[in-house]
Amino acid sequence: MNCIEYIENFLSAHADGELSPGELRDAEQHLRQCLGCRGRLDDERALKSLVRQHIEMRAMPAAMRQQLLDALDRAASEDESASDAGAPAQPAHRLLKRRAAWVPLAVAAMLAIVFAVARRFESNQSAPTEASAPVRNPDFDIAIAALDRFQRGFAPNVPSDSAAALSAAYARAKMPDFIWNFGASGFKLAGGRLEKLDDGRKATYTLYRGAQNSILCTRFRNGGAAPPANPAKTLSNHRFYRYRGYSVCYTRLPDGGFVCILASRISLDRMVQAVKIALK
Ligand SMILES: [Zn+2]
Repeated sequence: MNCIEYIENFLSAHADGELSPGELRDAEQHLRQCLGCRGRLDDERALKSLVRQHIEMRAMPAAMRQQLLDALDRAASEDESASDAGAPAQPAHRLLKRRAAWVPLAVAAMLAIVFAVARRFESNQSAPTEASAPVRNPDFDIAIAALDRFQRGFAPNVPSDSAAALSAAYARAKMPDFIWNFGASGFKLAGGRLEKLDDGRKATYTLYRGAQNSILCTRFRNGGAAPPANPAKTLSNHRFYRYRGYSVCYTRLPDGGFVCILASRISLDRMVQAVKIALK
């Protein structure tokens, strides 16, 4: 086997681990004596892994994956009939991958097709894709864990007799001191706590109790986690999410780099309303 044979017929499938045992033996024999092709194989693998990271083929829904492979087959057979008619009858997407000379082009074409197919697939879906698990957000998880804990038992550890007293206590601790008024929405201030997160950051928890559910306001210095994309609703700088069965309102506070996270079991619509009223 020479370099051209290796590059044209083996390189891409080799990088994919798709060579038969016999082909693999031949390929390895060539690589043992050819530094150039060894380098190409490394590049090919790096490129493929980069592409994989961006597309995550395996995470694709089966139907979409099939559409993609069909599209690749169609693209390849058009190309085959245009160039050489006597091509071997292989699955076209495998053939495509094996044509080393096409790789950068094939990658570009693949990405274009993936995105086209993804768009078509999404527009075909009538229901929103609730099935896909939400991306976990560490900040939201902190707020939700605290809400669950305080649902079982809550005792303020800073002066909480009034909103003004609580606000002053937070200010003394150099924490954001805005206290929500959810009174018109049926929630009463139950009090506040000053605690530390596992990593030592200070956090305040302010609990508002309703007839059935509570709203917890959690604040701490932003640890660098970005809020998830695509909030279900946005109200000026407040972003609302449905997250793990909870309603969450995320706000990055303008000064001091704090985040404010409201978490509750009430519906998202109800939370949006409560925030709207409180901001009036
Ligand atoms: Zn070579």
